[in-house]
Amino acid sequence: MAELDVRNPATGEVVGHVPVTTADEVARAVDQLRAHQPAWEALGADGRKEWLLKLQDWLIDNTEELAAVLQSETAKPRVDALIDPAFAIDLLGYYARRAAKFLTDEHPSPHSPLARAKKLTVTYRPYPVVGVITPWNFPLAMPAIDIFPALAAGAAVILKPSEVTPLSAVELARGWAEIGAPPVFTVVTGAGETGAAVVEHADYVQFTGSTGTGRKIGTICAEKLKPYSLELGGKDPAIVLADADLDRAAHGIAYGGMFNAGQVCISVERVYVEAPVYDEFVEKLTAAVAALRQGADGRESKNDVGALANEAQLRIVERHVDEAVAAGARVTTGGKRTGVGTFFAPTVLVDVDHSMACVAEETFGPTLPVMKVADEAEAIALANDSRYGLSASVWTGDKARGERVARQLNAGAVNINDVFANLFNFAMPMGGWGESGVGARWGGAAGVRKYCRAQAITAPALPTMAKELIWFPYDMNKLVFALAAMRAAGARGRRRFDLPRVWRLKGN
Ligand code: NAD
Repeated sequence: MAELDVRNPATGEVVGHVPVTTADEVARAVDQLRAHQPAWEALGADGRKEWLLKLQDWLIDNTEELAAVLQSETAKPRVDALIDPAFAIDLLGYYARRAAKFLTDEHPSPHSPLARAKKLTVTYRPYPVVGVITPWNFPLAMPAIDIFPALAAGAAVILKPSEVTPLSAVELARGWAEIGAPPVFTVVTGAGETGAAVVEHADYVQFTGSTGTGRKIGTICAEKLKPYSLELGGKDPAIVLADADLDRAAHGIAYGGMFNAGQVCISVERVYVEAPVYDEFVEKLTAAVAALRQGADGRESKNDVGALANEAQLRIVERHVDEAVAAGARVTTGGKRTGVGTFFAPTVLVDVDHSMACVAEETFGPTLPVMKVADEAEAIALANDSRYGLSASVWTGDKARGERVARQLNAGAVNINDVFANLFNFAMPMGGWGESGVGARWGGAAGVRKYCRAQAITAPALPTMAKELIWFPYDMNKLVFALAAMRAAGARGRRRFDLPRVWRLKGN
C-alpha cells in the first residue's frame, strides 16, 4: 500500500504517514456511506444533534491533543493551533442546535388567490453523499467548516484533506468513531488523484483550495451535471482612509496580513492608503510588523508568526518579493527567508504597483504591499482591479463612509475597521465573487440547505372534484372563466376587469 510522509515544515522531520487511498477504495467508501446515509437522514435533525454535540464534547475534551497534532504538521504558533479547534467547536454548536429550525418544512403563501386551492410545502432532503476537499492552511477548521453543516443536513460525508496536513482530519475521524456515531463520515487521504475520485463518486462536491484546482473540479462537475460549491483564492484589499484611527488600522492590517503567516484565503494581501496619511501609516504598519515574533512554538506560546506550509509556498513568496524589489519596490521590514525551515520574515513592501505579482497574484504568505492613492475613488477602483473578490476591509472614522465604500467593492465580504470578522459570523454567507468562488458556505439556514435538494409538494387545500377546470376535454368557456379570474387576480387597472377582451379570445 502506498503511503505519504507528513512533515513538520519548521524542522523537516517526518511526523506521520497516511495511506494513499486509491480510486477504487474511494468508490467503495462512498458506497458504504450511501448505504448508511438513509438511517442518518431518518434520525431527523434533533437525533443528529445529539451525535454532533457528542462530537463537540469530544473536541473540547481533546483540544490539547488536537492542537499538538496540528502543530506537528503545520508548525503554527501555539495560539494559532488552538484557534483551529476553538473555531470548529463554535461552528459545530451553531449548526447542531439550529439545523432543526433551518430544515423545517416551509409552507409559502401562494403567489395568487387562485393558487390557494393548494397547500404548498417545501421540504429539504439531503444529498446522500457530500464530498469535501480541503487545503492545508487550517487542517482542522477547514474540514469542520463544511463537514458539520453537511452532517447536520443529514448527508453522509467523505473528506479528502490536503496531502500536506492530513493528520488533523484523521484525528477528526477518530473522534467520530470514538463517540460511536453512525458510520456516515469517512476520511480518505492522498493527493489530487484521491480528490478526483471523490469528485467522481460523491453526489455534491464542496471544494476549498486554489482557483486552478477549483476550475478543474467545476469543469468535471459541469460535465456530470453534479452540484458543487467552490471556495477559492483571494487577493484581499484593505483601504485606509485619511480619517481612520491609524493605530488600529496598522495593528489590524498587520494581523490581517500575518495571521497564520499570511496563509489565509482572506488575508490582507494589498493595502491602499489615502495620500495625507500614507507616510504615517507606513511607519506605524512597519513598526507593528517588525515587532512580530517569528519561530516554532512548543506547548508554550512564544511566537506570533510561524512557518510556511512547505518549500513550494516559500518559493512563491520569495519570487513575489524578489521580483517586486527588482522592479523598484522597497522593503521597509522583512523581505527574506530566515533560519532553518520554511520561515519567511513578515514583510512590508512600498513603491509597488499592479504590474507586480506581489500585488496582482495571490501570494499566500507574510507580505503586505502598500500603495498610496489620491482619494477614496482611486482606492475603490484599484481594490476592484482584480480577478479575485473574496473579502476586503475599509478603515475609516466615519461608519457611514465605510458602508458607502463597502457597497462599491466587488467582494463577498467587507469588514469595516476589522479583518476576518465575517469569518466568525456563521449567520452570514461566506463566499467569493469573481474567480474567488462559486456559491457560498453558511449564511444561517442557507448553510445546511445548500447540502439539500429542495422538494416542492402540493396537496389539495379544498375538497376535490372529479376533474379540475382545465383538464381534458378542452372547453373555451372554462378557459375564459379561468383567464378572467387570473386577470382579476394578477393584472392591473382596467385590464383586471376587461371581460370583453377576454371574451374575444373565444373568437367572438
Ligand atoms: P490546492 O488547490 O492545491 O489543493 C486543495 C485540495 O485539492 C487538496 O486537498 C488537494 O489534494 C486537492 N486536489 C488537488 N488536485 C485535485 C483534483 N484534480 N481533483 C480533486 N482534488 C484535488 O490548494 P492548497 O494549495 O491546498 O490551498 C491553498 C489555496 O486554498 C489558496 O489558493 C487559498 O486561497 C485557498 N483557500 C480558500 C479558502 C476559501 O474559503 N475561499 C480557504 C482556505 C484556502
